Amino acid sequence: MDCIFCKIVAGELPSHKVYENERVLAFLDIHPVHPGHTLVIPKVHARNLLEIAAEDWAAVAEAARMLAIAVEKATDADGMNIMMNNRAHAGQVVDHAHVHVIPRFKGDGLRQWSPRSYKENEAAEIEAKIREAL
Ligand code: AMP
Ligand code: ZN
Repeated sequence: MDCIFCKIVAGELPSHKVYENERVLAFLDIHPVHPGHTLVIPKVHARNLLEIAAEDWAAVAEAARMLAIAVEKATDADGMNIMMNNRAHAGQVVDHAHVHVIPRFKGDGLRQWSPRSYKENEAAEIEAKIREAL
């Protein structure tokens, strides 16, 4: 499989590894939002959150929690974003599941999404659909 993150796991591509255990690898993003921006990935290939095994996700989530604390400390950040893009239309470029651990700084000016308001009944309808889908 031609997956750059699998190649990083296999040691076939270089990376700045900051943490690993039997299920998870964490390394610096090559194009950081800020220095210290870290990616946390499962060692076993899964395309995204919608397809990852529950045990691997649990390990990735716990590593992201640990790394959020470590990256905040190491960079003296004012806050942390933990985020994940899943599928191309949600901004996913590399098709190997990864969680971004991003240090943020007061006044860094980065924009997140723009909030909107619910129309009448819209919230109740989507609430029912989500409950049904679980
Ligand atoms: P996403 O848009 O969520 O799929 O993000 C993919 C991320 O992977 C981007 O932030 C890239 O900068 C990063 N990336 C791509 N190739 C590498 C690499 N070889 N080493 C480290 N990070 C990479
Ligand atoms: Zn992969």
